[in-house]
Amino acid sequence: MTAKRTALYPGTFDPITNGHLDIMARGAKLVDELVIGVAINEGKKPLFSVEERVAMAKEELAPVAKATGTLIRVEAFDGLLVHFAESLGAQFILRGLRAVADFEYEYQMVGMNAFLNDDIETIFLMADPHHQAIASKLVKEIARLGGKINDFVPPAVEKALLAKFK
Ligand code: ADP
Repeated sequence: MTAKRTALYPGTFDPITNGHLDIMARGAKLVDELVIGVAINEGKKPLFSVEERVAMAKEELAPVAKATGTLIRVEAFDGLLVHFAESLGAQFILRGLRAVADFEYEYQMVGMNAFLNDDIETIFLMADPHHQAIASKLVKEIARLGGKINDFVPPAVEKALLAKFK
């Protein structure tokens, strides 16, 4: 029997976007279990509380779990990513890659995480060209300034963003 393949997809998800969801849906096809790790990240001063970010992710991922048959869990975490991955028994860390701007940071993270535990492999999925430009930070800025965001986030997240900036 082969071991259960578990991947951890970490992020701030403040809020979850169509870009994240695309990576999650594609990543879910590669493993038996996908854990979405919502980083508490107080230092980043998130717009949404960790409870809100977890709840939004859970709502959007229920249909993905159903469609792929993959076990998908959403969990908040604090502290070192590698320690969280170890506590889950995850063999993989999943990340999405947009343009070159993501590359340098992600490459450095892979290097540092490999020093901490080189049994955990980071796998990258390239952003879908339609979602390449989507970033939580920009979506929040557009929402704050009253622009249309329905192409970037699912309807429930759009509603939550509009409520924050009302
Ligand atoms: P972090 O604070 O870890 O950067 P984010 O929530 O911003 O958290 O992003 C989590 C992961 O999702 C990162 O790997 C990031 O590169 C990826 N990501 C963000 N936006 C997109 C997108 N539009 N398409 C594909 N991947 C994305």
